Amino acid sequence: MLRSHTCGELRLTDSGKTVTLCGWVQRRRDFGSMSFIDLRDRYGITQLSFNEDYKVELLESARSLAREFVIKIVGTVTERSNKNENLNTGDIEIVVDQLEILNASLTPPFTIEDDTDGGEEIRLKYRYLDIRRNPVKEKLTIRHAANKSIRHFLDGHDFIEVETPYLIKSTPEGARDFVVPSRLNENQFYALPQSPQTFKQLLMVSGLDRYYQVVKCFRDEDFRSDRQPEFTQIDCEMTFVERDDVLQIFENMIRGLFKESVNYDLGEIPVLTYAQALETYGSDKPDMRFGMTFNYLTQVAKGHDFGIFDNAECIIAINVTGGASMTRKEIDAITDYIKRPQIGAKGLIYCRVNEDGSYKSSVDKFFDQTALARWAEHCDSQPGDIMLVLSGDLQTTQKQLNELRLHVGDFMGLRDASQFKACWVVDFPLLEWDEETNRFHAMHHPFTSPIADDLSLIDIAPEKIRANAYDMAINGMEVGGGSIRIHDKKLQQRMFDLLGFTPEEAKSQFGFLMNAFEYGAPPHGGIAFGFDRLCAILTGTDSIRDVIAFPKNNMGRDVMIDAPSPISNDQRKELNL
Ligand code: ASP
Repeated sequence: MLRSHTCGELRLTDSGKTVTLCGWVQRRRDFGSMSFIDLRDRYGITQLSFNEDYKVELLESARSLAREFVIKIVGTVTERSNKNENLNTGDIEIVVDQLEILNASLTPPFTIEDDTDGGEEIRLKYRYLDIRRNPVKEKLTIRHAANKSIRHFLDGHDFIEVETPYLIKSTPEGARDFVVPSRLNENQFYALPQSPQTFKQLLMVSGLDRYYQVVKCFRDEDFRSDRQPEFTQIDCEMTFVERDDVLQIFENMIRGLFKESVNYDLGEIPVLTYAQALETYGSDKPDMRFGMTFNYLTQVAKGHDFGIFDNAECIIAINVTGGASMTRKEIDAITDYIKRPQIGAKGLIYCRVNEDGSYKSSVDKFFDQTALARWAEHCDSQPGDIMLVLSGDLQTTQKQLNELRLHVGDFMGLRDASQFKACWVVDFPLLEWDEETNRFHAMHHPFTSPIADDLSLIDIAPEKIRANAYDMAINGMEVGGGSIRIHDKKLQQRMFDLLGFTPEEAKSQFGFLMNAFEYGAPPHGGIAFGFDRLCAILTGTDSIRDVIAFPKNNMGRDVMIDAPSPISNDQRKELNL
């Protein structure tokens, strides 16, 4: 070992020890006859002191050091007169005896400090320097702790990790595949897996009983801030289980994860049906950190000659506790927010409940105090609150009010990134109609089992069938999803048929799975968690890029290694491209 200690571990009790430290020069401060250097490694920062009275030539070499030089020093741990409470090592410094430069450094393109002057693109280009910064390094450390906690839990519950292939078969279902040309099989392509779904089901047919894999998945989608073309899933599958068994096991896993990686007690995880989630929050991944649930005013607010309400399918309000103090300007800003084309609300109606119990609404012309009192009664509004109301067709209004709720939640400071609240959403529709292709799509995926009670609807109203599927959302973000699977060949065939596959298509794409179902396929179900997103939530960041060591930018490029990039003509020829 080149060093005796790290830069994060020496304390006052080590005073007098001779130590050897290695690290990077974070900063140098020169005073008349003395210099100080902050020496940094992964574990922390230790102050080095160089003093003219001690060794003049050492002071001179110290003054030749610039930021990010890699050095090794030998010195004595000494109590500091000027202690730094912000550092774990702040009570001591090392009075340096010997100094060796292990490597010089160019001036880094941005400052390697917690608050840096570098923009995202330059930091991605020099990601290895960015990772030297605490905020990035800490996120990767939490990611590691999260990974460890999950593996430990699953290992303790008899799950075994099995690796499934990365070079598989392209299928049109789901997102767009990344494809890899096969040199040995002319004009044929592998696809990179969007998930190991069919393989993990086959492992259940194999009798492995409980499988997991921390696995890279690939989806060639257009950019969105929380997506990466390659991402990591915690992928799991179990045999002989029903929905609630799966929910229970993975609820415990996630609870343990939060406890062990960020010492947070997640508490009970409520289960909402998809229908309830939409009705109460307008979202199938509700942010449960705050209330502001939906109140339906459709019955009480119609019939007051207010055309917008009278012509609407529904009128829904949220009550903002303490919101009466919002200024006109603030309400206008919120209104502008929901009128943006991405949300598309036509306008916002509001009603303040004044401290004296009277009401002041934006539609006073149509609604007198008695009428507004009925709104307040429905919304359980108290003096000091404000009701915000949207109307229109049900689906659109729920969606828009969800956006409004989240925005106002932010505005009121109710979406604190250090608080976590999870929920399960169950009973999703099995199918969703796609106007463009004029056929049904599987809302989850084609292997998801319908809820047994709804099977009778299969020939008469397939759109009404509920799936035996479940999602977990934390703080308004979907972090995981799964289902009890179909394990019966006939039902699987019927499902493909509903999804518009011809028997030949079903056979050529998924024949291997249906064959397997003929050899004693057990009932099974599973789930996959988006590990990057979980880590982003755990570390309180909005972007999953922050928790990935070497992420792609928003064009799907790795700007550090400059990929993707052209290949040579020879390579092309070999691949018949
Ligand atoms: N394979 C699914 C997905 O990637 C998850 C699952 O059903 O287990 O979304």
